[in-house]
Amino acid sequence: LATDDLRPSVPSEIPQEMFGFSALPEYRQVRQIADQLNDLGLPNPYFQVLDGPTSATASIGGKEVINFAGYNYLGLAEHEEVKQAAIEAIEKLGTSTSGSRLISGERAIHRELEADLAKFMGAEASMLMSGGHAANETTIGHLLRTGDLIVHDSMAHSSIITGANLSGARRRPYPHNDWRELDEILHDIRKDYRRVLIVAEGVYGMEGDLCPLPELVEIRNRHKTWLMVNEAHSLGTMGPTGRGVTEYFGINANDVDIWIGTLSKALGSTGGYVAGSHDLIDYLKHTASGFVYSAGLAPPATAAAQAALKLIEANPGWLTRLHQNADMVRDLAKKAGLNIGGSDHSPIVPIIVGDSMMTMILAQKLLADGVNARPLTYPAVEESASRLRLFVNAHHTQDQIRQTINKLAALWSKLQRENHASAG
Ligand code: PMP
Repeated sequence: LATDDLRPSVPSEIPQEMFGFSALPEYRQVRQIADQLNDLGLPNPYFQVLDGPTSATASIGGKEVINFAGYNYLGLAEHEEVKQAAIEAIEKLGTSTSGSRLISGERAIHRELEADLAKFMGAEASMLMSGGHAANETTIGHLLRTGDLIVHDSMAHSSIITGANLSGARRRPYPHNDWRELDEILHDIRKDYRRVLIVAEGVYGMEGDLCPLPELVEIRNRHKTWLMVNEAHSLGTMGPTGRGVTEYFGINANDVDIWIGTLSKALGSTGGYVAGSHDLIDYLKHTASGFVYSAGLAPPATAAAQAALKLIEANPGWLTRLHQNADMVRDLAKKAGLNIGGSDHSPIVPIIVGDSMMTMILAQKLLADGVNARPLTYPAVEESASRLRLFVNAHHTQDQIRQTINKLAALWSKLQRENHASAG
């Protein structure tokens, strides 16, 4: 390059942290946690390699462990009929759609699954997305803009916060499940905004409790807002036949404006969806960037979810088992003096530890003892709310549940004793 032609940097001294990743303060924080774990002789708990599918058990480094770390609630990610459907879809349609749905990526199987999903949950229509994260982010980011208001539960998933921030609308959290406070906020400021979106989740992924859906619907009607419910953890797990929180609460799906969900949990696949009125889905299908400019869902993922949905409809007994197991986990954990937070009625049971290092040590010792449950620490939850999270599976045996809680309780009280001794 002829340097004489180039323009000098203004100002001439720009600090490293403004252009180098190694100096980026946010990245240094990540490194600091990794170094701390290293100093304590603890393996990094993230990016653990598993050998195959996870259900009631999993294999890690060739060793079989009892598994509470995956959201394959009904074991469908390894069900023979689901796998066969994916294989047949690859044989017939290939591994990729190789195009956006609008241009060349539309297949009959997409339309079939969209109709199946809408029918299953009682909505007018649905559309597939590349993931639940993309569905939340895209839909919120697209429907709201400057001058609008998004009021979301304080425990809403990260993709909801990201979508809200992208939208340019004002974002205001309300305290977890506190519908009275939500009502108060809307009473005070609804009039200052154009469109208002309330966002809640069917089952909260960190806490394992449900949203107060009937109250939210009433608030939505009275304040003339939109209501969006993220069913990532509730479709296929809640209600006697797995139809989600509408079935659980006996609510009409059309009383919620926007349903978001994922194919990656109870449905044993990968991908996401938005469901709602014909008009909403038609509008989003033609205009939402994360759909219009993204490839159609891969044939095997689409076929797997379709097969999974049929199996859920045909096997309501799995739902009964899932909930018996979850109740047993909660019951034994409470009897053992463990703190399960607000977990109720769902297949997610947190074990609150209250300190991130203690949580990671507990997870590591539990794994060494043959049980896989992953730690959740800051920033996923507040430091004082650090926890292990148990995803209960319909295929866990009573013996596996008993063993797990016994081991957890023994390790937890030993850790607390050691902690008190070192503090004293
Ligand atoms: N919402 C919640 C509550 C989730 O737990 C997740 C996945 N962890 C998502 C959305 C994102 O779903 P997906 O994995 O399909 O992107």
